[in-house]
Amino acid sequence: MGGTFDPIHHGHLVAASEVAHRFDLQRVIFTPTGIPWHKTRTTTPGEDRYLMTVIATAADTRFEVSRVDIDRDGPTYTVDTLRDLQSAFAAEHAPDTAEWFFITGADALADIVGWHDPDGIIERAHLVGVTRPGHQLTDPGLPEGVVTMIEIPALAISSSDIRTRVAAGKPIDYLVPEGVSRWIRKHGLYAGDNS
Ligand code: NAP
Repeated sequence: MGGTFDPIHHGHLVAASEVAHRFDLQRVIFTPTGIPWHKTRTTTPGEDRYLMTVIATAADTRFEVSRVDIDRDGPTYTVDTLRDLQSAFAAEHAPDTAEWFFITGADALADIVGWHDPDGIIERAHLVGVTRPGHQLTDPGLPEGVVTMIEIPALAISSSDIRTRVAAGKPIDYLVPEGVSRWIRKHGLYAGDNS
């Protein structure tokens, strides 16, 4: 499951759980992005986003967090994320019969044809776009059968709303796991955020 996770919230966790259930997934590996090449706003340091994702997912045995995108130099491209995860998995499992899915926000997936090596991505994984209720689904223009879109009511929560709430001194209780809320407070994240 790819995302900037700035910060991770309960909508992401519900989405991961729902997709795991729908596709009978053994594991969901969260991959916080390194340098998001397409962002105009300043992103919170990768180490904070990684650690908040670890805190948020720690209690669920199906969930893991990978540093592949945080530790790789240069911009984060999904084809690299999948290649790195798949090679590490193949090195540990023989024969490697794993089936792979790339889960992310439907908004983000709508632009996939403009991403680096989209053909390489769809060769490596089935795509799952998760979306907020009432959101108009955009056809990413991919061949039939390579992407599944799923509406997740809990995705009414958004990272940008959480950042705005923190900056305005509003509570974020129950929108993010308690440990994430404490991390944000302890490190003064989003205090001056205007996005
Ligand atoms: P984004 O533009 O920050 O997010 C777009 C929308 O999708 C937002 O509404 C966001 O909500 C939602 N979203 C993002 N990740 C989500 C998730 N895991 N579950 C549910 N909703 C999610 O997107 P991004 O985080 O930068 O990128 C998403 C993924 O696509 C990352 O893994 C990134 O590396 C990949 N990507 C790859 C390329 C490429 O290969 N060239 C280009 C763009 C993106 P929240 O803000 O609430 O999360």
